[in-house]
Amino acid sequence: VKGEGRLVLLVEDEPSMARLVRSVLVAEGYGVFEVSTARDALLQATARTPDLVLLDLGLPDRDGLEVVRGLRAWTQTPVVVVSARDREDQKVAALDAGADDYLTKPFAAGELLARMRVALRHAASPAGAEPVYESEGLRIDVGDRRCRVDGREVRLTPTEWKVVAVLVRHAGGIVLQRALLRDVWGPGSEEQTHYLRIYVSGLRKKLERDPTRPRHLVTEPGIGYRLRAPDDPG
Ligand code: CA
Repeated sequence: VKGEGRLVLLVEDEPSMARLVRSVLVAEGYGVFEVSTARDALLQATARTPDLVLLDLGLPDRDGLEVVRGLRAWTQTPVVVVSARDREDQKVAALDAGADDYLTKPFAAGELLARMRVALRHAASPAGAEPVYESEGLRIDVGDRRCRVDGREVRLTPTEWKVVAVLVRHAGGIVLQRALLRDVWGPGSEEQTHYLRIYVSGLRKKLERDPTRPRHLVTEPGIGYRLRAPDDPG
């Protein structure tokens, strides 16, 4: 799926980075509107109603996190953070504030485009419809509770299904550890990260061809998990 004229609000104060990202997006068929401050980001998000926001966090006037919070106060427009900040707590803070995904500079153009496609797909998928995940021989149909690996039926436990359902609904995107714990085990379970280690390891044995080198269910260290999108080059 190409950009198809969809509008991206690019929030970046570094001219060389803005030029680079713009050329990647335009070549892919996206329309691009550029701003370089948090203030203009919030103004233009309202004025132009972009399909997606690409957001740098280190902005001259205010922190990019405030842009995420400001947007989330009124819109679910996908926000993909592109930042030089590479600490786990910084990524968690951006995702917690409501960003859909997080890329660390420097990044590959193919990776940026893949993450944008995932964020746009999630924004477009109708609420309530249970998605099907299909990639490299793995097929998970959450609605029908059916899972196949290379054509072979795999049985999952009820709790495994709950974990898998959350991951499939966010396929391609990061699911924070504590969001997964809350969604599966309920409020108050956010600190029980050992549950996740046990269930993820069990799921990898069932879903991955080589559980020691997972292709589908990948760990984002210190942050959470990602069920890799079929077109993710990573
Ligand atoms: Ca910056």
